[in-house]
Amino acid sequence: MRLETLAVHAGREADPATGAVTPPIHLSTTFERAADGSYPRGYFYSRVANPNREALEKCLAALEGGAAAAAFSSGSAATMTVFQALSPGDHVIAPTDVYHGTARLLREVLAPWGLDASFADMTNPGQVAQDVRANTKLIWAESPSNPLLKITDIGRIAEIAHEAGALCACDNTWATPVLQRPFELGADLIVHATTKYLGGHGSVLGGAVIARAEDGFFQRMREIQTLGGAVPSPFECWLVLRGVSTLPYRMRGHSENALKVATFLSGHPAVEAVHYPGLKEHPGYEVAARQMALPGGMLAFQVQGGREKAFEVAAKVKVFTRATSLGGVESLIEHRASMEGPGTRTPDNLLRLSVGLEHPDDLIEDLAQALG
Ligand SMILES: *Cc1c(COP(=O)(O)O)cnc(C)c1O
Repeated sequence: MRLETLAVHAGREADPATGAVTPPIHLSTTFERAADGSYPRGYFYSRVANPNREALEKCLAALEGGAAAAAFSSGSAATMTVFQALSPGDHVIAPTDVYHGTARLLREVLAPWGLDASFADMTNPGQVAQDVRANTKLIWAESPSNPLLKITDIGRIAEIAHEAGALCACDNTWATPVLQRPFELGADLIVHATTKYLGGHGSVLGGAVIARAEDGFFQRMREIQTLGGAVPSPFECWLVLRGVSTLPYRMRGHSENALKVATFLSGHPAVEAVHYPGLKEHPGYEVAARQMALPGGMLAFQVQGGREKAFEVAAKVKVFTRATSLGGVESLIEHRASMEGPGTRTPDNLLRLSVGLEHPDDLIEDLAQALG
């Protein structure tokens, strides 16, 4: 089946007990045993498995074309579990511009635990290959990246990982399975913050890991998750599953709007630079055109006049909301350097946009009046 159909049907069926077409939310934490002590319906305690979580996992595995999925309480919990399934003494390579929470997890939590991490410019596969060590067990890719929308050739990174006998994990949060197919490019694991586009409405925190094969590594992640309890609630799973049903159409709208906004900004005299992989002048344009169906809903731009002007623009917008995060129906604007705090390498005059599903002309008019 095709993606739009999977997004609506995978993991769903009419409730066998009532015929309800929309799935019920199963809040029960515990499930009845049969007289012989077995669990004939397959569930026994909700930390281990729950019908709403299972439905979401089936749907996510189908959307990405993987063998199995595990849904988590956040994108960060999913990321954490991938690293915890490695062993102390293992080495991972992550992008220098990896999601800042992932970098902090590696440096502040997993390094003391014994996981060795180095950071590489993933737009330069030669450097990544040079950084491989005897104990490299995983290479983490994230494309497009935050906040400069750098594009990584995922197929090339997966090849380098496999030559080293390591896994390639891809954070596919920004592209989603609608725009980018990491398993087809060679990745072994796909990670999502379902908080963003998959949930799609800024109303649920969640994460997921999807595995190409239901192998020992996946089982180890599942074990860590069920023992550690990093599970989403049934209601959160229900919300993400509902969000996913409109994902293919939302991604087209986000991408169409973002291209219009990026094109407007790139012609504006008060704008110094626009970072959007759908623009021909973007250094990742060609790789993006090859590995993404559309360039997506995220972009960043730098204004003339430095930090002060960036704050002024963010203060003047009326349709965009000043807030962090992304992937919801409403457009957001963020001064990224102040969000990332001291030590950030993000330019001070940069504003990041999560382009929502409003009419693109309203978004463009809003930015035009804010830029002055
Ligand atoms: C938001 C985000 C995460 C973390 O997800 P949470 O649900 O906030 O924990 C990880 N990776 C990327 C690319 C993100 O945008």
